Amino acid sequence: MSDQHFTTEQIAAACHELEGQPPEVILRWAVRAFYPKLTMATAFGPEGNCIIHMLAEIEPRVRIFNLETGYQFAETLELRERIKTRYGIEVEYVRAATTVPEYEAEHGGPLYVIRPDQCCLDRKILPLRKAVVGYEAWISAIRKDQTGERGKASLVQWDPKFDLVKINPLLDWTKKDVWAFITKHDVPYNPLHNEGYPSIGCWPCTAPVGEGEDERAGRWRGTGKKECGLHVVEHQSGSGI
Ligand code: SF4
Repeated sequence: MSDQHFTTEQIAAACHELEGQPPEVILRWAVRAFYPKLTMATAFGPEGNCIIHMLAEIEPRVRIFNLETGYQFAETLELRERIKTRYGIEVEYVRAATTVPEYEAEHGGPLYVIRPDQCCLDRKILPLRKAVVGYEAWISAIRKDQTGERGKASLVQWDPKFDLVKINPLLDWTKKDVWAFITKHDVPYNPLHNEGYPSIGCWPCTAPVGEGEDERAGRWRGTGKKECGLHVVEHQSGSGI
């Protein structure tokens, strides 16, 4: 384990070594390279839950946290408890600087309606930045086929937004792969997935999707916004959060 960040050469070598390997192999590599300075943020999506299942066997002490914006669905919060019961892993809540009532009072109402980027910045990005101080790497559950931006990601990459190495063990998995794993291992998942919500974030910004729609079509529907900013690299997108 090193106190120094991985160099560009080390990241390229890791990508080469891990190409085509299953997620468990990538996670074992990440634990060897970075634990205990390895962390993971989860919104308890199906992909993240697969990774939690794998980490429970590989290294259950990896610190996993959830950005508790105060706007999450009750079903999502209940899922955290089910994961704790199943795996003994207590996902830590990382909260914004203010409660939802304080935040809405400060801005004269809910900001997600008029300035969702600012709301995501205050309630997700800034708390995340604080939560990862002292860590060297974080695990993400993104898949290449989810958005154009995610399609540009690598298995291991430098994340300039958070000054961390980012490891994406499920990058090459499809949605079908994720659900096959969930079924095979009886991994806990959010019951809202059975009610037309393939991708679940905060309740004000998540709508069910119709037959044939993109799986993230219900996120920030009608706003043009596709990401909260956690997985957007600034120099690639040209936009901030
Ligand atoms: S997803 Fe919506 S409610 Fe949640 S932080 Fe972003 S704008 Fe706010």
